[in-house]
Amino acid sequence: KRTMLIVRSFTILLLSCIAFKLACCFSSSISSLKALPLVGHLEFEDIYHASKDFGNRYQLLPLAVLHPKSVSDIASTIRHIYMMGPHSQLTVAARGRGNSLQGQAQTRHGIVIHMESLHPQKLQVHNVEAPAPYVDVSGGELWINILHETLKYGLAPKSWTDYLHLTVGGTLSNAGISGQAFRHGPQISNVHQLEIVTGKGEILNCSERQNSDLFHGVLGGLGQFGIITRARIALEAAPSMVKWMRVLYQDFSAFARDQERLISGDNKFDYVEGFVIINRTGLLNSWRLSFTPEDPLEASQFKSDGRTLYCLEVVKYFKLDDKDVINQEVKESLSELSYISSTLFTTEVTYEEFLDRVHVSEIKLRAKGQWEVPHPWLNLLVPRSKMNEFAKGVFGKILSDTSNGPVIVYPVNKAKWDNRSSAVTPEEEIFYLVAILTSADKDGVEQILERNRRIIEFSEAAGLGLKQYLAHYTTREEWRSHFGPKWDDFVRRKSRYDPLAMLAPGHRIFQKAV
Ligand code: FAD
Repeated sequence: KRTMLIVRSFTILLLSCIAFKLACCFSSSISSLKALPLVGHLEFEDIYHASKDFGNRYQLLPLAVLHPKSVSDIASTIRHIYMMGPHSQLTVAARGRGNSLQGQAQTRHGIVIHMESLHPQKLQVHNVEAPAPYVDVSGGELWINILHETLKYGLAPKSWTDYLHLTVGGTLSNAGISGQAFRHGPQISNVHQLEIVTGKGEILNCSERQNSDLFHGVLGGLGQFGIITRARIALEAAPSMVKWMRVLYQDFSAFARDQERLISGDNKFDYVEGFVIINRTGLLNSWRLSFTPEDPLEASQFKSDGRTLYCLEVVKYFKLDDKDVINQEVKESLSELSYISSTLFTTEVTYEEFLDRVHVSEIKLRAKGQWEVPHPWLNLLVPRSKMNEFAKGVFGKILSDTSNGPVIVYPVNKAKWDNRSSAVTPEEEIFYLVAILTSADKDGVEQILERNRRIIEFSEAAGLGLKQYLAHYTTREEWRSHFGPKWDDFVRRKSRYDPLAMLAPGHRIFQKAV
């Protein structure tokens, strides 16, 4: 009894010492941070929002949120923490819009950098009349703002994500994939130059020619090597309108064959995506709200209930003057496909409306309180040769319905990805993005996570060689296996650009030495 009492007292004493040390540590960190000469400011009170993200499952409260007004605010803060040395507990997480799924933009007791505060100067569009126009933007800029600004010059970025209320730094840290990627590659393949604040607080410009190791490392680098404060993004002439079409398939192989045909060679479409639809009642009726059926009578007789269907979604860009030529081209391209003929639905909208389409759903979901629910999403990159097997096992068996969120499926060409970037993809020339974007209520999360685990286990057991996109792992071994042959370079870059491992701790790849 006496020994137990001694052990208990000793434990309490030890814990009190640790708590006291931490408190001293934090209070000395706070006072030294408060003394930093910044143009913007550090916020210590109103910080709760920085502990949340779109995934709505992870919550880490930071010590403070930096609202930078200049790049040097970011550099001085990081340099200050770097100078504190490895014994300081402080880590730093850049936060775009916090659209991460599992706390990737969070840090416990560290500094969150609110990247949207960084508007060093207006968006600047260059080479407007020249063959290779580009725009210089802040790392905290939203893609929707870039669209609005560049359209004033009749220009727009080439490669997008499905949702544009994401930041440049956030998507370039991952890849940035959408239905244009088959032609232009992901967003990380459409960047000419970056300005980076490294984990030592240096401000470096980088590109293919200057500091190229940092440039390639940061693209798809999960924020591990530096904060993207500026990016130079390639532009092209923007269309004014898009012709947007959907058709259905019953058979996955026929659907995939047509998708692959469309992403190869002489395809006339500008965007190719697709969805899996399982057991949806009145599907085509819901499409009628925004699309027009080619054959209204036959479309009205089509039943989706109880069936697994595959929807091909394609878009053709055009300018109003070219409408007739475009209609003819589209007709010819569609005639080569083998979809169920009664299911062709078409609409025409402005380019801007098309690109910002997910925001329309966001507004509706927010109004119903259904946007800020948990999102246990699963994003996978599946090699083409294994896609039929994946579809059979996952769409045919494990997924029983798609009513709680879209399941997006489309192929992209690896040739459009720069293998020198940190982004990880399967080895094959063509691979598919499979995005299972389920929303859950608090009680349903575990069930969906269990289903996601089954999908991963099935894929591993079948040796499908897939890679996770927007991946989340908890052990170093899993990260090593995720990066495969790129792991050694990843570790080397970490020790070169962020030797104290203070950046982007939410990914749980490296731990700050304490
Ligand atoms: P955050 O979530 O805030 O940050 C993401 C990561 O990047 C964190 O690790 C953070 O520390 C780091 N980071 C943020 N800013 C910087 C910076 N300036 N410098 C360095 N590191 C930084 N992705 C696609 O590819 N295609 C899609 O079609 C697509 N659709 C989506 C639709 C919705 C509704 C949502 C919520 C997400 C979608 N995404 C898509 C995922 C999106 O790319 C990621 O959520 C990404 O993280 C961008 O979000 P964010 O800008 O809010 O970044």
